[in-house]
Amino acid sequence: MAEASVPQDLSSYEYEPSCPLPSGREARDHVISKGPCQPRDINFPLDNRNRKFLVSWYEKFPWLEYSVSLDKAFCFVCRVFNAQTSSRSEPTFIKTGFSNWKKSEVFAKHEKSDCHKHSLQAHRHWKSQKPIHHQIDEENERQESYRQQNVKKNRTVIGKIIDVVRLLGKLNLPFRGHREDKNSLNKGVFKEFLEHIAKSDSLIEDHLRNSAENAKYTSPEIQNQLIKVVGSAILDDIIRRVKGAEMYAIIADETPDLSKTEQLAVLVRYVWNGVIEERLLAVEPMEETTAEALFHTIREKLQQCGIEFSNMRGQCYDGASNVSGIHTGLQARIKEISRQQFTHIAMLMF
Ligand SMILES: [Zn+2]
Repeated sequence: MAEASVPQDLSSYEYEPSCPLPSGREARDHVISKGPCQPRDINFPLDNRNRKFLVSWYEKFPWLEYSVSLDKAFCFVCRVFNAQTSSRSEPTFIKTGFSNWKKSEVFAKHEKSDCHKHSLQAHRHWKSQKPIHHQIDEENERQESYRQQNVKKNRTVIGKIIDVVRLLGKLNLPFRGHREDKNSLNKGVFKEFLEHIAKSDSLIEDHLRNSAENAKYTSPEIQNQLIKVVGSAILDDIIRRVKGAEMYAIIADETPDLSKTEQLAVLVRYVWNGVIEERLLAVEPMEETTAEALFHTIREKLQQCGIEFSNMRGQCYDGASNVSGIHTGLQARIKEISRQQFTHIAMLMF
């Protein structure tokens, strides 16, 4: 901290922003304690545009200092404390000096820079006489706090994006567009929906406009990953409810998709909080649709989900005549290993 008397090694030292700080702790503290070098009663030289340094800038920017020998401005706190911080430095205000008086708005910009904020913090610590290792600890804490704020912000953003994924899934809408580049008029429902939200949500707008391309969470790969994650969370919830309900029934039907591959849809029907729910458990491709193949697929799926086969109390299949024989066989196979009290076969006509 500043001493009342001038240290001996400063007898020839000129207090000037262009002069390096003395290396001795006592001398250095003494120079710092003098604050920014702000000469006032001098004739500031005009530059070739007839502009010059203005004393009024000292009032607006208390950290600003002026070098008479160089006719340049510096930032006191950055010049003195920047080396102690890990922030990116701005050499103009630390070493080379600033003299483009026409662009004084740069002062306000510098004041908002991370470099300046970190230096200001270091100066406050110096004034409170905290040892440097305390200052470093606090700077680390500040950076950790900044990191956590970023994590919180990113979680909020990803939460909003997941909400869009859930909504599109609920409405059974396709995600992708044929052309998703910036100039496309229709980037697909997923991206268009996010762009629409950005109009009234500054967080999403900032995220879409300013995030790096590989951190927007909107690429086709990320879309697929999000669908998978959301699907997994929904399935976990369905399984939890089936287990909670204890008894359940299954509904199954197979139908070919566009590629002519037979797909077996397996649904569960159970009572949750006094309300009957029917939920899709799985859609499995089938190479063959014999009773035995259907039975193994359903059993395997229930096992994967950890749902007790023996708690099944009902089965429901398509009763159309061309497949009724297969389902009768499937029903019999399931009854062999479950403890069904009754079986209800509905006539599902598709
Ligand atoms: Zn600064």
